[in-house]
Amino acid sequence: MDSYNTKIIKINRTDFDGSELDEAARLLRNGELVAFPTETVYGLGGNALDPEASKKIYSAKGRPSDNPLIVHIAEKADIYKIGREVPESVQTLMDMFWPGPLTIIVKKSDIIPKETTGGLDTVAVRLPSDEIAGELIRRSGVYVAAPSANASGRPSTTRAEHCFEDLAGKIPLIIDGGPVKIGLESTIIDMSSDKPLILRPGYITIDEIRRAVPDCEFDPVVIATAKPESMVAKAPGMKYRHYAPKGELIIFRGEPDRVISRINEEIAVKKKGGKRVAVLATEESRDFYQADFIKSLGRRTDEEEIARHLFEVLRSFDELGAEYIFGECFFSPGIGQAIMNRLVKACGYNIIDV
Ligand code: AMP
Ligand code: MG
Repeated sequence: MDSYNTKIIKINRTDFDGSELDEAARLLRNGELVAFPTETVYGLGGNALDPEASKKIYSAKGRPSDNPLIVHIAEKADIYKIGREVPESVQTLMDMFWPGPLTIIVKKSDIIPKETTGGLDTVAVRLPSDEIAGELIRRSGVYVAAPSANASGRPSTTRAEHCFEDLAGKIPLIIDGGPVKIGLESTIIDMSSDKPLILRPGYITIDEIRRAVPDCEFDPVVIATAKPESMVAKAPGMKYRHYAPKGELIIFRGEPDRVISRINEEIAVKKKGGKRVAVLATEESRDFYQADFIKSLGRRTDEEEIARHLFEVLRSFDELGAEYIFGECFFSPGIGQAIMNRLVKACGYNIIDV
């Protein structure tokens, strides 16, 4: 892998004319990688039609090359160039939710190389609403393959500083557009077969999507909070861990009062053993814990706030050197479902009912 002196270009969103992105656009056209903000999380972009650029993305992230990338476009009509046999309901989805945090999977056309889709015959497409992302794609003149701009396995990046932590030396440029608006990755819907399936919950909820695609369902794996049976025999836990802090994260599920007292019991045990313990709390509960470090995600009543802070807080436990992290659950059917999906992966199904 090439080694770079990674540069950061800071964008002032209140005084932005697009020319700040010319260097980034040129790098993308030349097959190089650029990290840039979107409304969901920061993306690590490369030319989606260039197999070498896609290989660079996998290598910079340390990502297994069978995990496909999302292709970012600036015009809705581009989905008909990179996809084929696009069903009519996809146009309805695009009209309702684009630009925005919805990724749509369709069958891929021949111009998309298999390197970009992890060997699959389908392609994931998104038209982001962030104005920096949109302007960068337009100026580059290419379709931009971009997974989240984190090292594989670590929490996604919601600030340029996180991209620098994970990717410094591995890419030439990071565009700093400040903290992202949403903080969770896009909702992914698979429209490539007869059965529309949500493969990843996000800011756009299944109820909203059903207004466009009434028969849409969750892929059962998405909402599972226990490890799928067939996988139990394989490498326990680790295979499923994404977003994971270095310490052991355990999530407790139950009535708030019982969760708090159970977590305090666990803290006492670990502290006796000389361990560094942290709690993933909310504003409502933070004062009730007796841990070394207590990090609040925000108010339980404001799930958008919780979503915005989740990855940043998960990252902060590594800086604190937390060996154990005890966290609370989120239940609501809306964004709570997306938050819980990320937490379940972060803890590798390490959930205890109290
Ligand atoms: P990231 O941008 O890091 O969230 O990674 C992109 C996500 O989109 C991964 O979870 C992929 O598995 C998913 N994805 C991308 N393309 C496809 C596809 N063709 N089929 C299924 N999932 C996909
Ligand atoms: Mg990711």
